[in-house]
Amino acid sequence: MKGVLALLAFVAAVTSMENFSGQQVLRILPVNEEQVNLVQELENLENLQLDFWQGPSKPKRFIDIRVPFSSLQDVKAYLEYHNVQYSIMIQDLQTLLDEEKRDMKIGRAMENARSTNSFNYATYHTFDEINNFIDTLVAENPGFVSKIQIGSSYEGRPLNVLKFSTGANRPAFWIDTGIHSREWVTQASGLWFAKKIVTDYGRDASLTATLNQMDIFLEIVTNPDGFVYCHTTNRMWRKTRSRNTGSTCMGTDPNRNWDAGFGGGGSSSNPCSETYRGRAANSESEVKAVVDFVKSHGEIKGFVSIHSYSQMLLYPYGYTNTRTPDNGELDRLAKSAIDALASLYGTKYTYGSIITTIYQASGGTIDWTYNQGIKYSYTFELRDTGRYGFALPANQIIPTAEETWLALTKLIEHTRDNLY
Ligand SMILES: [Zn+2]
Repeated sequence: MKGVLALLAFVAAVTSMENFSGQQVLRILPVNEEQVNLVQELENLENLQLDFWQGPSKPKRFIDIRVPFSSLQDVKAYLEYHNVQYSIMIQDLQTLLDEEKRDMKIGRAMENARSTNSFNYATYHTFDEINNFIDTLVAENPGFVSKIQIGSSYEGRPLNVLKFSTGANRPAFWIDTGIHSREWVTQASGLWFAKKIVTDYGRDASLTATLNQMDIFLEIVTNPDGFVYCHTTNRMWRKTRSRNTGSTCMGTDPNRNWDAGFGGGGSSSNPCSETYRGRAANSESEVKAVVDFVKSHGEIKGFVSIHSYSQMLLYPYGYTNTRTPDNGELDRLAKSAIDALASLYGTKYTYGSIITTIYQASGGTIDWTYNQGIKYSYTFELRDTGRYGFALPANQIIPTAEETWLALTKLIEHTRDNLY
């Protein structure tokens, strides 16, 4: 009987997972402002159920859209009618996700969760597995690594932050991954960073010097509800999972919910939109927890929020065209960071302020941290540039983490050497 129930539960769990069979991701290249607007209009047709992975932003910049099977013919006909160029970036999304699932199964079979040495960094993990990893890492590194719970998610999950520290009352550098839950290479890279820090401390001269002066904070699963939902129900979930009064659509975009230009252009007031800003700044407990932590700490000098995809390193602002007073320094530092990143595997990044490099986005994380006085505020968009998008194969996790670490190191060293 027990076996039958378990089997039923298993079947239910499997069948409740959103299926993306026949869904394609189209890569669209608008050549002028008019075409950008034409594609933008598709976003308002809710019955098409399009999911904009990238853009729209400006002419000659790709727009990637996940299109459900039932809308494919209409969307393609629309684009062809208006002479808008497109190609098929992903032929069948479910095929990629099936591979991802298979990889996870194999990857897990190969690891021993009781040691971070035999943990498999080259596979994607669940929320529980990541929390086990965090506890193991803390247990293995007493007096150096600790876990701080800075709050709880909307659905009550712990918001855990790793603290790497060798002394009291130090300035700090913050890194977060996974605020958009479907950007799985970011949380996976976060795990690798955590292990890299404990491995290199005492061995690598620069990181050792850093940790003798500063603390590092690392929040790996910054949007746990969304992340769990990705694993159990919809792999393509981006937002939080909070309820919206008066709407059946769930969730807020946690990267539009910060109190910096909140409510401005590049954020939506529609709860069904992927860029829904929420009813008020800091309405999301996942955002509020970081806000409270940053304010109460008071000595965070560098702040990096990591996203995927499109291979970019960005600095403020996103909500306004006004340049920050530190624009020159932030720009030079970004350049040196992406050069370091490219030195490993040749991965090419673009860089600049958010608004000039991608598009206007209001209520974003690093605009708020910058306005709080954290001069070195950056956002990464990790691999790739669109072959796989959010479904980046697990065999790219370690190379992505390795190269990103080189860029992060530049940002951390510069912060350490220019404490203010
Ligand atoms: Zn993102």
